[in-house]
Amino acid sequence: MKLSLVIPCYNEENNVMPLFEKVNETFKGNIDSYEFIFVNDGSHDATMNNLTEILNETEIPVKIINFSRNFGKDAAIFAGLKEADGEIISLIDADLQQDPSYVVKMVQYLDENPEYDCVTAYQDVRHESKFRIWCKRRFYHLINKMSDTEFVDGASDFRTFRACMKDAILEMSEYHRFSKGIFSWVGFNTYYMPYEADERLAGTSKWSFWKLCKYAIDGIVAFTTVPLKISTGVGTFTALASLIYMIVVIIEKIAFGIAVPGYATIVVLILFLGGMQLLALGINGEYLSKTYIQSKHRPIYIAKEIKTNKKDV
Ligand code: UDP
Ligand code: MG
Repeated sequence: MKLSLVIPCYNEENNVMPLFEKVNETFKGNIDSYEFIFVNDGSHDATMNNLTEILNETEIPVKIINFSRNFGKDAAIFAGLKEADGEIISLIDADLQQDPSYVVKMVQYLDENPEYDCVTAYQDVRHESKFRIWCKRRFYHLINKMSDTEFVDGASDFRTFRACMKDAILEMSEYHRFSKGIFSWVGFNTYYMPYEADERLAGTSKWSFWKLCKYAIDGIVAFTTVPLKISTGVGTFTALASLIYMIVVIIEKIAFGIAVPGYATIVVLILFLGGMQLLALGINGEYLSKTYIQSKHRPIYIAKEIKTNKKDV
Protein backbone atom coordinates (compact mmCIF):
# COMPACT_ATOMS: atom_id res chain seq x y z
CA MET A 1 0.00 0.00 0.00
CA LYS A 2 1.46 3.30 -1.13
CA LEU A 3 -0.69 5.80 0.77
CA SER A 4 -2.99 5.81 3.79
CA LEU A 5 -5.29 8.78 4.01
CA VAL A 6 -6.32 9.44 7.62
CA ILE A 7 -9.48 11.54 7.97
CA PRO A 8 -10.88 12.59 11.38
CA CYS A 9 -14.64 13.21 11.14
CA TYR A 10 -16.85 14.89 13.70
CA ASN A 11 -20.36 15.73 12.51
CA GLU A 12 -19.36 15.80 8.84
CA GLU A 13 -22.41 14.05 7.33
CA ASN A 14 -22.55 16.35 4.31
CA ASN A 15 -18.82 16.35 3.69
CA VAL A 16 -17.60 12.75 3.76
CA MET A 17 -19.13 11.66 0.47
CA PRO A 18 -17.98 14.72 -1.55
CA LEU A 19 -14.52 14.34 -0.01
CA PHE A 20 -14.36 10.66 -0.93
CA GLU A 21 -15.35 11.45 -4.52
CA LYS A 22 -12.99 14.40 -4.86
CA VAL A 23 -10.06 12.37 -3.53
CA ASN A 24 -10.72 9.54 -6.00
CA GLU A 25 -11.02 11.99 -8.87
CA THR A 26 -7.79 13.73 -7.91
CA PHE A 27 -5.77 10.57 -7.26
CA LYS A 28 -6.79 8.91 -10.56
CA GLY A 29 -3.64 8.42 -12.61
CA ASN A 30 -1.47 10.02 -9.90
CA ILE A 31 -1.49 7.63 -6.96
CA ASP A 32 -2.19 4.00 -7.78
CA SER A 33 -2.68 2.31 -4.42
CA TYR A 34 -4.24 4.04 -1.45
CA GLU A 35 -6.63 3.42 1.42
CA PHE A 36 -9.06 5.60 3.33
CA ILE A 37 -9.01 5.52 7.10
CA PHE A 38 -12.00 7.41 8.43
CA VAL A 39 -12.22 8.04 12.16
CA ASN A 40 -15.73 8.82 13.31
CA ASP A 41 -15.06 10.87 16.43
CA GLY A 42 -18.41 10.40 18.19
CA SER A 43 -20.50 12.27 15.60
CA HIS A 44 -24.13 12.92 16.50
CA ASP A 45 -25.31 13.13 12.91
CA ALA A 46 -25.40 10.67 10.01
CA THR A 47 -21.61 10.65 9.50
CA MET A 48 -21.28 6.97 10.48
CA ASN A 49 -24.15 5.89 8.18
CA ASN A 50 -22.64 7.77 5.27
CA LEU A 51 -19.21 6.31 5.94
CA THR A 52 -20.66 2.80 6.07
CA GLU A 53 -22.38 3.46 2.77
CA ILE A 54 -19.07 4.49 1.24
CA LEU A 55 -17.38 1.36 2.63
CA ASN A 56 -20.08 -0.98 1.30
CA GLU A 57 -20.17 0.48 -2.17
CA THR A 58 -16.53 0.79 -3.13
CA GLU A 59 -13.70 -1.48 -4.19
CA ILE A 60 -11.13 0.97 -2.84
CA PRO A 61 -9.86 -0.14 0.60
CA VAL A 62 -11.71 1.72 3.36
CA LYS A 63 -11.46 1.39 7.12
CA ILE A 64 -13.75 3.09 9.62
CA ILE A 65 -12.81 3.46 13.27
CA ASN A 66 -15.97 4.32 15.15
CA PHE A 67 -15.30 5.96 18.53
CA SER A 68 -17.58 5.35 21.50
CA ARG A 69 -17.79 9.15 22.01
CA ASN A 70 -16.04 12.35 20.97
CA PHE A 71 -12.37 12.12 21.98
CA GLY A 72 -11.08 15.09 19.97
CA LYS A 73 -9.20 15.48 16.71
CA ASP A 74 -5.81 14.61 18.21
CA ALA A 75 -7.10 11.29 19.53
CA ALA A 76 -8.71 10.63 16.14
CA ILE A 77 -5.40 11.24 14.38
CA PHE A 78 -3.68 8.80 16.78
CA ALA A 79 -6.29 6.10 16.13
CA GLY A 80 -6.06 6.60 12.38
CA LEU A 81 -2.28 6.35 12.39
CA LYS A 82 -2.49 3.12 14.39
CA GLU A 83 -4.53 1.52 11.63
CA ALA A 84 -2.55 2.94 8.70
CA ASP A 85 -0.62 0.42 6.59
CA GLY A 86 0.74 2.75 3.90
CA GLU A 87 4.38 3.52 3.16
CA ILE A 88 3.25 7.13 3.27
CA ILE A 89 0.51 8.59 5.44
CA SER A 90 -1.50 11.74 4.81
CA LEU A 91 -3.71 13.57 7.30
CA ILE A 92 -6.55 15.55 5.82
CA ASP A 93 -9.70 17.15 7.25
CA ALA A 94 -13.12 15.94 6.21
CA ASP A 95 -14.52 19.38 5.40
CA LEU A 96 -12.78 19.85 2.01
CA GLN A 97 -10.92 22.92 3.24
CA GLN A 98 -7.79 21.18 2.09
CA ASP A 99 -7.63 20.38 -1.59
CA PRO A 100 -6.59 16.71 -2.14
CA SER A 101 -4.43 17.86 -5.08
CA TYR A 102 -1.94 19.02 -2.44
CA VAL A 103 -1.71 15.42 -1.21
CA VAL A 104 -0.59 14.39 -4.70
CA LYS A 105 2.02 17.16 -4.65
CA MET A 106 3.20 16.12 -1.19
CA VAL A 107 3.56 12.47 -2.18
CA GLN A 108 5.45 13.48 -5.33
CA TYR A 109 7.73 15.67 -3.25
CA LEU A 110 8.55 12.77 -0.92
CA ASP A 111 9.17 10.47 -3.90
CA GLU A 112 11.54 12.96 -5.49
CA ASN A 113 13.31 13.98 -2.27
CA PRO A 114 14.28 10.89 -0.28
CA GLU A 115 16.10 13.07 2.25
CA TYR A 116 12.75 14.49 3.42
CA ASP A 117 10.39 12.47 5.63
CA CYS A 118 7.50 14.86 5.98
CA VAL A 119 5.73 17.55 3.99
CA THR A 120 3.62 19.98 5.97
CA ALA A 121 1.16 22.38 4.42
CA TYR A 122 1.39 25.82 5.88
CA GLN A 123 -0.94 28.71 5.37
CA ASP A 124 0.68 32.01 4.53
CA VAL A 125 -2.68 33.60 3.77
CA ARG A 126 -5.39 33.16 6.38
CA HIS A 127 -9.07 33.95 5.97
CA GLU A 128 -9.62 34.72 9.62
CA SER A 129 -10.29 37.83 11.69
CA LYS A 130 -7.29 40.11 12.33
CA PHE A 131 -7.70 39.59 16.07
CA ARG A 132 -7.58 35.80 15.73
CA ILE A 133 -4.49 35.98 13.48
CA TRP A 134 -2.82 38.32 15.99
CA CYS A 135 -3.62 35.97 18.90
CA LYS A 136 -2.22 32.98 16.99
CA ARG A 137 0.95 34.91 16.15
CA ARG A 138 1.43 35.89 19.83
CA PHE A 139 0.90 32.26 20.85
CA TYR A 140 3.56 30.96 18.45
CA HIS A 141 5.97 33.69 19.53
CA LEU A 142 5.43 32.81 23.19
CA ILE A 143 5.63 29.04 22.89
CA ASN A 144 8.74 29.23 20.68
CA LYS A 145 10.42 31.42 23.30
CA MET A 146 9.63 28.93 26.06
CA SER A 147 9.96 25.54 24.38
CA ASP A 148 12.90 23.76 22.77
CA THR A 149 10.47 22.24 20.29
CA GLU A 150 9.97 24.43 17.23
CA PHE A 151 6.43 25.52 16.42
CA VAL A 152 5.92 26.97 12.94
CA ASP A 153 3.20 29.62 12.69
CA GLY A 154 0.67 28.61 10.05
CA ALA A 155 1.79 24.95 9.89
CA SER A 156 -1.34 22.84 9.86
CA ASP A 157 -2.19 19.24 10.67
CA PHE A 158 -2.50 18.79 6.92
CA ARG A 159 0.65 16.80 6.30
CA THR A 160 2.13 13.78 4.60
CA PHE A 161 4.91 11.67 6.06
CA ARG A 162 6.70 8.36 5.83
CA ALA A 163 5.89 5.30 7.96
CA CYS A 164 9.05 5.80 10.06
CA MET A 165 7.65 9.11 11.29
CA LYS A 166 4.26 7.52 11.95
CA ASP A 167 5.94 4.90 14.15
CA ALA A 168 7.70 7.63 16.11
CA ILE A 169 4.42 9.50 16.64
CA LEU A 170 2.71 6.32 17.82
CA GLU A 171 5.47 5.78 20.39
CA MET A 172 4.32 8.98 22.08
CA SER A 173 1.47 7.63 24.12
CA GLU A 174 0.63 10.75 26.12
CA TYR A 175 -3.03 11.29 26.93
CA HIS A 176 -3.12 15.04 26.30
CA ARG A 177 -2.07 15.07 22.69
CA PHE A 178 -0.98 18.36 21.19
CA SER A 179 -0.35 17.09 17.67
CA LYS A 180 1.45 20.18 16.36
CA GLY A 181 4.03 19.76 19.12
CA ILE A 182 4.27 15.99 18.72
CA PHE A 183 4.95 16.29 14.97
CA SER A 184 7.72 18.70 15.59
CA TRP A 185 9.13 16.97 18.70
CA VAL A 186 9.73 13.68 16.85
CA GLY A 187 12.01 15.53 14.42
CA PHE A 188 12.52 14.20 10.86
CA ASN A 189 13.28 16.41 7.87
CA THR A 190 10.22 18.48 7.11
CA TYR A 191 9.45 20.52 4.01
CA TYR A 192 6.89 23.29 4.44
CA MET A 193 4.63 23.59 1.42
CA PRO A 194 2.58 26.79 1.14
CA TYR A 195 -1.14 26.33 0.61
CA GLU A 196 -4.33 28.29 0.88
CA ALA A 197 -7.24 26.72 2.75
CA ASP A 198 -10.65 26.75 1.08
CA GLU A 199 -13.95 27.46 2.78
CA ARG A 200 -15.63 24.60 4.62
CA LEU A 201 -17.99 22.73 2.27
CA ALA A 202 -20.73 22.24 4.90
CA GLY A 203 -21.19 22.53 8.66
CA THR A 204 -19.25 24.78 11.03
CA SER A 205 -15.78 24.77 12.53
CA LYS A 206 -15.53 23.01 15.89
CA TRP A 207 -13.05 25.57 17.16
CA SER A 208 -14.52 28.44 19.14
CA PHE A 209 -12.17 31.16 20.36
CA TRP A 210 -12.23 29.79 23.94
CA LYS A 211 -11.60 26.25 22.76
CA LEU A 212 -8.55 27.60 20.93
CA CYS A 213 -7.35 29.39 24.11
CA LYS A 214 -7.69 26.18 26.12
CA TYR A 215 -5.85 24.29 23.39
CA ALA A 216 -3.05 26.88 23.48
CA ILE A 217 -2.64 26.43 27.25
CA ASP A 218 -2.62 22.64 26.79
CA GLY A 219 0.13 23.07 24.19
CA ILE A 220 2.27 25.18 26.48
CA VAL A 221 1.83 22.79 29.43
CA ALA A 222 2.59 19.78 27.22
CA PHE A 223 5.77 21.13 25.70
CA THR A 224 7.47 23.35 28.24
CA THR A 225 7.88 23.66 31.99
CA VAL A 226 9.06 27.26 31.70
CA PRO A 227 5.87 28.67 33.36
CA LEU A 228 6.80 26.69 36.50
CA LYS A 229 10.27 28.20 36.43
CA ILE A 230 8.82 31.67 35.92
CA SER A 231 6.61 31.26 38.98
CA THR A 232 9.66 30.14 41.01
CA GLY A 233 11.60 33.15 39.69
CA VAL A 234 8.85 35.65 40.45
CA GLY A 235 8.38 34.11 43.91
CA THR A 236 12.09 34.36 44.68
CA PHE A 237 12.28 37.93 43.41
CA THR A 238 9.26 39.05 45.47
CA ALA A 239 10.56 37.36 48.59
CA LEU A 240 13.98 39.02 48.21
CA ALA A 241 12.45 42.41 47.45
CA SER A 242 10.20 42.25 50.51
CA LEU A 243 13.16 41.22 52.69
CA ILE A 244 15.14 44.25 51.51
CA TYR A 245 12.10 46.47 52.01
CA MET A 246 11.68 45.11 55.56
CA ILE A 247 15.30 45.96 56.39
CA VAL A 248 14.83 49.48 54.97
CA VAL A 249 11.70 50.03 57.08
CA ILE A 250 13.43 48.83 60.26
CA ILE A 251 16.50 51.04 59.64
CA GLU A 252 14.28 54.05 58.86
CA LYS A 253 12.33 53.52 62.07
CA ILE A 254 15.43 53.08 64.27
CA ALA A 255 17.61 55.77 62.66
CA PHE A 256 15.10 58.45 61.66
CA GLY A 257 11.98 57.53 63.56
CA ILE A 258 9.87 57.49 60.37
CA ALA A 259 6.58 55.66 60.92
CA VAL A 260 5.74 52.48 58.99
CA PRO A 261 3.98 53.47 55.69
CA GLY A 262 0.25 53.34 55.91
CA TYR A 263 -2.81 51.41 54.98
CA ALA A 264 -2.73 51.79 51.16
CA THR A 265 0.74 50.27 50.83
CA ILE A 266 -0.22 47.28 52.91
CA VAL A 267 -3.45 46.63 51.01
CA VAL A 268 -1.67 46.87 47.65
CA LEU A 269 1.07 44.53 48.79
CA ILE A 270 -1.40 41.97 50.18
CA LEU A 271 -3.45 42.01 46.98
CA PHE A 272 -0.36 41.82 44.78
CA LEU A 273 1.19 38.96 46.70
CA GLY A 274 -2.15 37.14 47.03
CA GLY A 275 -2.63 37.41 43.29
CA MET A 276 0.87 36.20 42.54
CA GLN A 277 0.41 33.23 44.87
CA LEU A 278 -2.87 32.22 43.29
CA LEU A 279 -1.35 32.55 39.81
CA ALA A 280 1.61 30.38 40.78
CA LEU A 281 -0.76 27.84 42.35
CA GLY A 282 -2.85 27.83 39.18
CA ILE A 283 0.22 27.19 37.01
CA ASN A 284 1.24 24.35 39.32
CA GLY A 285 -2.30 23.02 39.17
CA GLU A 286 -2.23 22.91 35.36
CA TYR A 287 0.81 20.67 35.43
CA LEU A 288 -0.45 18.62 38.36
CA SER A 289 -3.81 17.94 36.72
CA LYS A 290 -2.11 16.75 33.52
CA THR A 291 0.19 14.48 35.55
CA TYR A 292 -2.83 13.17 37.48
CA ILE A 293 -4.77 12.26 34.36
CA GLN A 294 -1.69 10.72 32.72
CA SER A 295 -0.99 8.64 35.85
CA LYS A 296 -4.34 6.87 35.37
CA HIS A 297 -3.11 5.52 32.04
CA ARG A 298 -6.50 5.85 30.43
CA PRO A 299 -6.72 4.89 26.78
CA ILE A 300 -6.40 7.79 24.33
CA TYR A 301 -9.60 6.64 22.61
CA ILE A 302 -12.14 3.83 22.73
CA ALA A 303 -13.24 2.31 19.45
CA LYS A 304 -16.72 0.85 19.51
CA GLU A 305 -16.05 -0.95 16.24
CA ILE A 306 -13.63 -1.06 13.37
CA LYS A 307 -15.12 -1.79 9.95
CA THR A 308 -13.22 -2.54 6.81
CA ASN A 309 -13.76 -3.80 3.29
CA LYS A 310 -10.13 -4.81 2.94
CA LYS A 311 -9.79 -8.39 1.73
CA ASP A 312 -6.58 -9.25 3.59
CA VAL A 313 -7.91 -8.46 7.07
N1 UDP B 1 -12.62 16.99 14.26
C1 UDP B 1 -12.64 15.80 14.97
N2 UDP B 1 -12.96 15.84 16.30
C2 UDP B 1 -13.25 17.02 16.95
C3 UDP B 1 -13.17 18.22 16.21
C4 UDP B 1 -12.86 18.16 14.86
O1 UDP B 1 -12.39 14.72 14.43
O2 UDP B 1 -13.52 16.97 18.14
C5 UDP B 1 -12.30 16.95 12.82
C6 UDP B 1 -13.32 17.61 11.92
O3 UDP B 1 -14.37 16.74 11.55
C7 UDP B 1 -12.47 18.02 10.71
C8 UDP B 1 -11.12 18.32 11.35
O4 UDP B 1 -11.10 17.66 12.62
O5 UDP B 1 -12.34 16.97 9.79
C9 UDP B 1 -10.87 19.81 11.53
O6 UDP B 1 -11.91 20.37 12.27
P1 UDP B 1 -12.51 21.82 11.96
O7 UDP B 1 -12.81 21.92 10.50
O8 UDP B 1 -13.65 22.05 12.90
O9 UDP B 1 -11.29 22.74 12.35
P2 UDP B 1 -10.75 24.04 11.57
O10 UDP B 1 -10.63 23.67 10.11
O11 UDP B 1 -11.75 25.09 11.82
O12 UDP B 1 -9.41 24.30 12.21
MG1 MG C 1 -11.97 22.85 8.91
